[in-house]
Amino acid sequence: METKISHYYLIVDLEATYCNNGTIPRHEMEIIEIGAVMLNRETWEIDSEFQQFIQPVRHQQLTSFCTELTSIRQQDVDEAPKFLEAISRFKEWIYSFPNHIFCSWGNYDKKQFIQDCAYHNFSYPFISEHINIKEEFSEYLGVSKKFGMAQALTELGIELKGTHHRGIDDARNIATIYKQIKTKKLS
Ligand code: AMP
Ligand code: MG
Repeated sequence: METKISHYYLIVDLEATYCNNGTIPRHEMEIIEIGAVMLNRETWEIDSEFQQFIQPVRHQQLTSFCTELTSIRQQDVDEAPKFLEAISRFKEWIYSFPNHIFCSWGNYDKKQFIQDCAYHNFSYPFISEHINIKEEFSEYLGVSKKFGMAQALTELGIELKGTHHRGIDDARNIATIYKQIKTKKLS
């Protein structure tokens, strides 16, 4: 029987409402940006990108902490669609690449999708398993220590491109890391 090969790594990075003084508890955080790239497993090029801001409904006003961290402005989310419309667009895009595997840096993004889908009564959109690239990066180095995305780039001597903590830029940078660890052995 032919083994089904996944042609793309779907690398996703989410940004979410957050407050550092505890006024937004973890279980009330909501996605405010989906950034994602389709990384071709044969050419290691990014063949397609998806970027979408989302208007939060539980804590509609972004905190200054969140805006400073992510650089996402209140206007960006006020003008954006709400979760159901945004996730439908995202699902349409990911389903146009049937053979993909969902990847992200750590498990946070997967958990946040599960939380928002449950809150909005939308079925979890991913059909594939999930690859935790943060874990694969530590395995690549042969260490137990876990790295943030920016630290990982420094470790590899690669410059961080774009704005850190913007979903689309983080997704592109994670793709660069993944390409490196899948194609280059450590000397
Ligand atoms: P990231 O992909 O690292 O930009 O993080 C995704 C989301 O996690 C951010 O949009 C914040 O909601 C939250 N977050 C990330 N880093 C921090 C931090 N240092 N302190 C608090 N929340 C954070
Ligand atoms: Mg991010």
